[in-house]
Amino acid sequence: MIQTEAFERLADPSDVASRNEMMETREALRRQVANQTPTEAPDEDEQGNRYCLDCAEIIPQARVKAVAAVRCVHCAGKRERAIKMGLVNHAGARAGMDNRAEE
Ligand SMILES: [Zn+2]
Repeated sequence: MIQTEAFERLADPSDVASRNEMMETREALRRQVANQTPTEAPDEDEQGNRYCLDCAEIIPQARVKAVAAVRCVHCAGKRERAIKMGLVNHAGARAGMDNRAEE
């Protein structure tokens, strides 16, 4: 008959759900750890001004010193939310489109 019906009969829904949940938890942890070690090269000019990688605004020196920021506070916040939602991985590539694990 229809292929999706056969698949649903084979897979125990609660097994699939708990396995997905475990993978999501592991992935979230991995992202959290990766987040603590910035690997992106800062965009700096010869005067030592550092520019946001996303919007090219100058990042205040205090922020650069405090958190070794490579983005302004606005873009860093947006990015953090995007990472939490799984839209962007740590390397900066968009993962959402090819990664249709959910649904
Ligand atoms: Zn910015």
